[in-house]
Amino acid sequence: MDFAPDLAPDCVPDCVPELALGFALAFTPLRRAARCGLPYWLLLLLALPGGAAHAGPDFSAALHRARDEAGIDPAAAQAQLQGLRAQALAAGQVAARLEADEIECRLLTDTNLSEALAVASGGLRAASAAALLGQSLPPAAELPWARLRVCAAGTMLDSGNATGGTAELDAVLAATAQRPDLASARALALIERGSRRSRAGRMVEGQDDLIEACRSLQALAEPRDTELCLGHLANHYKRMGDRAEARVLLTQLRDTARERGARFDVSVHAFSLAQVDAEDGARESALASFLESLRIAQAMHDTQGAALAEIGAGMILFQLGRPAESLPYAQRALALSEATTERVQAIRAHLLLAKCQAALGRAAEAVEGVRRVEAETRALANETLLAEWLDAQAQAQAAAGNWKTAFEAAAKRRVIDERVQAQRVSEQSARLRVRFNRDKDASELRALQRANEQGAQLRQVQALALALFVGLLTVAVAYGYRKFRQARSLNVLAMADELTGLPNRRAVLAHADTLLREARRRGERLGVLMIDVDRFKAVNDAHGHAVGDEVLRHLAQVLAGSLRSRDRLGRLGGEEFMAVLPDVQPGTATAIAERMRLGMTSAPCRSSVGELAVTVSIGVAEFDAASGAGPQTLARLMAEADSALYAAKASGRNRVALAEAAEASAG
Ligand code: GH3
Ligand code: MG
Ligand code: MG
Repeated sequence: MDFAPDLAPDCVPDCVPELALGFALAFTPLRRAARCGLPYWLLLLLALPGGAAHAGPDFSAALHRARDEAGIDPAAAQAQLQGLRAQALAAGQVAARLEADEIECRLLTDTNLSEALAVASGGLRAASAAALLGQSLPPAAELPWARLRVCAAGTMLDSGNATGGTAELDAVLAATAQRPDLASARALALIERGSRRSRAGRMVEGQDDLIEACRSLQALAEPRDTELCLGHLANHYKRMGDRAEARVLLTQLRDTARERGARFDVSVHAFSLAQVDAEDGARESALASFLESLRIAQAMHDTQGAALAEIGAGMILFQLGRPAESLPYAQRALALSEATTERVQAIRAHLLLAKCQAALGRAAEAVEGVRRVEAETRALANETLLAEWLDAQAQAQAAAGNWKTAFEAAAKRRVIDERVQAQRVSEQSARLRVRFNRDKDASELRALQRANEQGAQLRQVQALALALFVGLLTVAVAYGYRKFRQARSLNVLAMADELTGLPNRRAVLAHADTLLREARRRGERLGVLMIDVDRFKAVNDAHGHAVGDEVLRHLAQVLAGSLRSRDRLGRLGGEEFMAVLPDVQPGTATAIAERMRLGMTSAPCRSSVGELAVTVSIGVAEFDAASGAGPQTLARLMAEADSALYAAKASGRNRVALAEAAEASAG
């Protein structure tokens, strides 16, 4: 007596939300239920004798085993569940039946969405049909029913029914809000909502949901559900670029799964761990984890899992400079993913294959392979995939000697990479970590307060607990603050020059770009100074590199001292510096440059080997938005300042030269 295969397929997507919601609001019109679920009424009459059936102890132990089995061998678990469902129906135990449905639905969400949805809708429909007959659900069935609704909502969302899925999730969250007995269903709904928010870039809300869910499940001592939740939380951290945190969680999950022989789970967690390692550049351990995941997937005939792991391992081998070894992985991944409906996977396999071919000198095949998936890649509008495509395109075209096309593809890819990177390095992650730690403190405080209230007579214990709490709080706050500062200083480091502390090349160019745009908008003049130390090689040669570094630090201070408050100085590299001067009047930029030059001659560097007199040459260029004269882009402006600098060097050094265009416009 298996419900799922009887489903009329056209009935599934539109009826599930209606029926499930209908039940919550007390019964949809009879017509609808009749259209969608009539056969289930009859079956349900058998399943609900007296309407007060409870899952017997036999069922609950067997269901428990099936839940564990799902992480070990999903196919075996599914067979067990189908048997259990039949027995539950025969025994009229609706709670057991719904729980079997829920476990099977969850197990299928990883491998077969439409079947998962069919299982969920079978159970929900049966429950709704019972309601239509005026029978209330037995109390023991309420929890599995609510949990099944969450699984149904998840599959609806995954299969693109955003409206239905969201409505269903919201309904479950509303219905479980004041119900401690339904806490695990609520937590599952929060996992679903949280990971969706996280994937949609709503990191703060997503993390709040996930943390609330994991805490609640931990408190309920639901190990499988807690693992599910922590897996989602790890993926969220990964998305935020907090790979250290993701690695801690995933390693724990993988090891726990290993301990209880849950090889399917091991395969899943090892795969995630491999991705984290790959992103971190830890290629050897990423390869080991991908291969572990692959071995298990192969042994379990898990086509999708195997295809993913083949691509992962192939990618790493390619990155390790072993394209010949990578090639067979790409070929197997391609064969496997062409057998599934997973298009993204198939495209990635094509791209990996093309990159291997390009690296092995088989340029024509590579170019053709990349071209074949272009239209489909663009149609999918998936930015990460597009970046992968551009990368393969660059390599294939370069192998074929089409340098221009290759260069363009590489440049476009870099733009995407930078955008993604910028998102990740955002301070959001730092903020969230602090918040998480503060939350931890707050809950520890509450727990201690509760303990104190209960044990009012034990004053000594109280004093001890308080001391402990203060200690804990201090440690946790310090930890949170340190994490925050680390993240912030990392951010600062990425933009600062290590030697001088000035903005580095990237930072000063970005700033110059902004100032140029502002100047254009406001119709102002913008000055750019290129500054180069004179005969610096001689300093290095005479006193060594370390002393050269001292001179550069001294120079940075003197030059910065000549600036106005809105001016910005940065180190372009070596002994070359650049200053950007917004809103200058004619002559101001040259005057500032002159001030810098004189500053250097009047303040020799007090180095560890004594005083060193060092001079600089400076080239000045100006952009004038009002007159439209002079160079119009930052690159042109810098090139002009550079030629002026060259002129200053040529005419004897230790001087300032103004670019010709600027000279002309100044009259
Ligand atoms: P000029 O510019 O006046 O023509 O002469 P120069 O000797 O400064 O010429 P050049 O630009 O060729 O030499 C730059 C030298 O700067 C070469 C390199 O050894 C040194 N240099 C580059 N980066 C650093 C650094 O970070 N620290 C030190 N100490 N030296 C550096
Ligand atoms: Mg130089
Ligand atoms: Mg120089």
